[in-house]
Amino acid sequence: MQIIDGKLTSLAIRGELRKETDDFRATYGFAPGLAVIIVGEDPASQVYVRNKARACEEVGFYSEVHRLPENTKQDELLSLIDRLNADEKIHGILVQLPLPKQLDETELLLRIHPNKDVDAFHPYNVGKLTIGNPTFLPCTPAGIMELLRRYGIDPDGKRCVVVGRSNIVGKPMALLLMAANGTVTVCHRHTANTEALTHEADILVSAVGRAHFLTADMVKEGAVVIDVGMNRDENGKLCGDVDFDTVAPKCSYITPVPGGVGPMTITMLLQNTLKSAKLKAQNQKN
Ligand code: NAP
Repeated sequence: MQIIDGKLTSLAIRGELRKETDDFRATYGFAPGLAVIIVGEDPASQVYVRNKARACEEVGFYSEVHRLPENTKQDELLSLIDRLNADEKIHGILVQLPLPKQLDETELLLRIHPNKDVDAFHPYNVGKLTIGNPTFLPCTPAGIMELLRRYGIDPDGKRCVVVGRSNIVGKPMALLLMAANGTVTVCHRHTANTEALTHEADILVSAVGRAHFLTADMVKEGAVVIDVGMNRDENGKLCGDVDFDTVAPKCSYITPVPGGVGPMTITMLLQNTLKSAKLKAQNQKN
């Protein structure tokens, strides 16, 4: 059994991104720029946003964080997005989720220009991914594909099972595995006999959000297990969906939590922002 180390992999990619960013700045005279919008005081979101800003700094990006009060109105947020859409320094815009209840998330995400949609949540980018012609890849599933690639795990011809069908993780994960020639099954709350399906998987991705969801009896000997979950266990400790101690001995490869999928997500956000800046530079040249 080998642990897939997302922290180390992520560090390596950020080193590569730092170099690419230096070369980019030397060639085009500007740095890739990311704007993050956060509304309210959700403690987990505050941590994510701080980590994103720090990651930008590490690789030499320009970044700005817009912190807005809990009672911000939809119109104020829409005009901020409009301003950032028009801002030459900004190549990526993201709105940290979840948002306070009074705000219409769909309308806000639609307002971000698809060329600056580095989270790849805009229906335009979702559509491009679906037809196999993506510009930006959604960060968490893209991070998983990168981990598989760097550990020499090829989904081609493999039975892949994804548990979870959210727009952020499960659905795009299934699309990326399918694009890589995997044979993909997606399970959700209405799936009959999920255990039998997960047990057939060569590559098993759990994106459920429940501690100890995936137990050893649900996993085939030699499977690759990817744990997307970020949960708290009975003692308040961060854990994934996978019952790691019992599942790990059955696996060929497994991602831990923390230190697996998590660190890759922000790294892929940086990769998308650099790509957006490169596309902009290319367009200016033509
Ligand atoms: P979500 O929107 O709540 O989706 C959870 C999915 O799991 C749903 O599709 C749900 O099915 C399915 N599910 C729930 N219970 C199930 C069961 N007993 N059997 C089969 N399927 C079941 O969550 P999400 O945003 O995709 O996130 C999932 C987890 O990943 C969370 O722990 C989240 O914190 C974590 N996450 C981590 C990262 C990272 O960077 N590491 C990024 C994003 C999310 P239905 O559709 O039928 O309800």
